[in-house]
Amino acid sequence: MVESDDFPEALVNKAFLVLVVTSTLFLCAFAPAQEKTPDWSTVQIKASKVSGNIYILEGQGGNIAASVGQDGIVIVDDEFAPLAEKIQAALKNLGITDKPVRFVINTHYHGDHTGGNPPFANSGSTIIAQDNVRKRLISGGTAGNGGSLKIENKPAEKAALPIITFEHDVTVHLNGEDIRAFHVPAGHTDGDAIIFFPQNKVVHMGDDFVRYGFPFIDVASGGSVQGMIDGVEKASAQLPADVKVIPGHGVLSDLDDVRAYVKMLKETSAVVQQAIDAHKSVDQMKKEKVLEPWAKWSNDFVSQDIFIETLYNSLTNHPGAFVKHN
Ligand SMILES: [Zn+2]
Repeated sequence: MVESDDFPEALVNKAFLVLVVTSTLFLCAFAPAQEKTPDWSTVQIKASKVSGNIYILEGQGGNIAASVGQDGIVIVDDEFAPLAEKIQAALKNLGITDKPVRFVINTHYHGDHTGGNPPFANSGSTIIAQDNVRKRLISGGTAGNGGSLKIENKPAEKAALPIITFEHDVTVHLNGEDIRAFHVPAGHTDGDAIIFFPQNKVVHMGDDFVRYGFPFIDVASGGSVQGMIDGVEKASAQLPADVKVIPGHGVLSDLDDVRAYVKMLKETSAVVQQAIDAHKSVDQMKKEKVLEPWAKWSNDFVSQDIFIETLYNSLTNHPGAFVKHN
C-alpha cells in the first residue's frame, strides 16, 4: 500500500455522536455514544502485543493501535474522552517508555474513534487526520446510511480538531518505523485512513474493515460500498501476505479475513444491483430478503434490512443530506 497514489486522505475525529435514531442499532461500533451514557468506570482497557513494538488496545469504541518505543508513543484512534486516562495508564503499564503520546492519528471522524482527541490534545499530543475528518468535526451533521440509520454529530470542540491534516497520505517517522497513513476516498466515510506499520507488518484498517458483520457505511458522510471495496483491495494488494490486520472493531485478523469480508461486500452489492436493475424498490428487496444467504453477517447494528438500504443508497448515489466534502 505504500506506494499507492490512490490512497488519499483519511482520518478524522469527531466530537461525539448522539444517536438520534431508532432502536437498538449500534453494537460495539457506537454503543457508547448512544441514548444511554455508558458507565465508563466499568470499562477496562486491555493492551496486547501485536508484533514488535506495536500493540492493540481494546476498551469501548474502535480498536487502538499503538507504536510504543524510545521516541515516545503514536496511537491510531482514541476511543472516548472519559477513557483517555485509562488509555494513558495502559500504555504506561507496558513498562516500555515514560514518554507521552506524541501523535494521535484518527482513522475517521466518528466519535468512537476520535472522542479522546480533546484530552489527548490537552495533554500535549498532536492530532493528525485526513482533511475531511477536520471538516466534519468542525461542521457536525447527520451521519448515517442514507436511510433509517441516522446519527447526529454536534460540532466538535476546538481541542478535538486535528492540527495536521493531509489530503492523500502522510508518514510519521518514530520508533524506527515509517508509519504511513493513506486516504481511502469514499469508504466508510470520505475521510478514512488506513495506517500501515511496515517494519512490524501491522495495519490498522479503521472501519473500512470490521469484524461485527455487515459494516456500517456512512453514506451520508461520503462513504460508499464501492469505495470501501476498492480501498481495502488496493491496500491489501500492497500489504505483505503475513500482515497482521487490526480491524476498526473486533479481533485481530489476517488477510484471509479481509478477503472473506470483501467477497461478502461484492456479492451483496451485486445482488442489490441486480434488484435495482430490475427496478425493485428497497421495500421489495427487504420483503424478498435478498440478503438472506449472507444472514450470518447480520448484526444488531446493521441488520439485513439496514444493509439493503445502505447498498441501495450507495449504488444509486443517494447519499442523504450530509454535504460531501470532496
Ligand atoms: Zn466509524
